[in-house]
Amino acid sequence: MIPHSRPTLGAEEAKAAAETILSGQIAHGPKVAEFEKRFADFLGLQRAVAVNSGTSALHLALLALGTKPGDEVIVPDYVCTALLNAVHYTGAIPVIADVSEADGNLDCQAALRLITPKTRAVIVPHMFGTPCAGITLFKERGIPVIEDCAQSVGAELAGGKVGTLGDLSIFSFYATKVMTCGEGGMVASNRPELTDTVADLCDYDNRDDYLPRYNYKMTDFQAAMGLVQLARLPDFIQRRREIAQRYNAGLKDLPLRLPSAQADRQPIHFRYIVRLANPESLLNHLRNHGISAAHPVFKPYQLLTKANDCPISLRLWHESLSLPIYPLLQDAEVDRVIAIIRGHILHA
Ligand SMILES: *Cc1c(COP(=O)(O)O)cnc(C)c1O
Repeated sequence: MIPHSRPTLGAEEAKAAAETILSGQIAHGPKVAEFEKRFADFLGLQRAVAVNSGTSALHLALLALGTKPGDEVIVPDYVCTALLNAVHYTGAIPVIADVSEADGNLDCQAALRLITPKTRAVIVPHMFGTPCAGITLFKERGIPVIEDCAQSVGAELAGGKVGTLGDLSIFSFYATKVMTCGEGGMVASNRPELTDTVADLCDYDNRDDYLPRYNYKMTDFQAAMGLVQLARLPDFIQRRREIAQRYNAGLKDLPLRLPSAQADRQPIHFRYIVRLANPESLLNHLRNHGISAAHPVFKPYQLLTKANDCPISLRLWHESLSLPIYPLLQDAEVDRVIAIIRGHILHA
């Protein structure tokens, strides 16, 4: 069986977690502080604050921007429900924007048309490992941007790392993400007043004042794993790029739409997505041969909430299939996936 995704974990992560557990300091402590420092350095930002998930990171980023009940927050339709949840936690109203045909990222021009006096922020995810261009459009309009880098840690856009372009950025270390510590997240920014608020809100104990705070802390043994994964990230990205090239070469003559390269972006290939008219039949064929593929987004918001209609998001959802891609995937396995796809398409 070739799974759709798999964490890249080994003896180093196990050793780091075990040492932390045996140290007796397993809750939020010095390893978390070290992980935050290394992560901020990796991005070249002043501060990063570790939390227990990407969803918590989004929630606190919205609160740091002052998001209140009745405010509006613009989010794209073609993403996981974490964004919708985080907006609802604040009492704000999600305003759903369509995505761009080329890469499935937020259509920034369409999002600009949704701005009203109530718009508090826009959440811009860099989906599938591909940077979303156009963040400056919101900055020019004075709309705060939260970059959602849950799928794209280490990707670059015109020389800058994703996560350094907005007012705040968030990351996820869930098991299927590019780097993982089981569950976890990070909020990063160059604006100390924002990261101070995030750090204040994610820990409730021993305070002189009272306001509702959250227990969103990361643990030290998760941070110990995160430190190892961060050190390995360049190798992870390198291997993902090799696999993407292997798929490109093996599938390029088929009637499939492959991921298109864009000169100003260095994606990290969190997902390798092919587009075709009827992905269900290919999905079933792969499954019958022990290969797990998936919709890159489980369901767009419009199918879950009966909200706006976003025709491009719907079309991408109907036509897209995500193939296995992760550092532990062997060349022979990639070749097998390619061969099964070729057999299906050329003999259908
Ligand atoms: C996974 C993901 C999240 C949520 O992260 P969790 O750690 O699962 O809470 C948010 N945004 C995007 C784009 C994601 O892929």
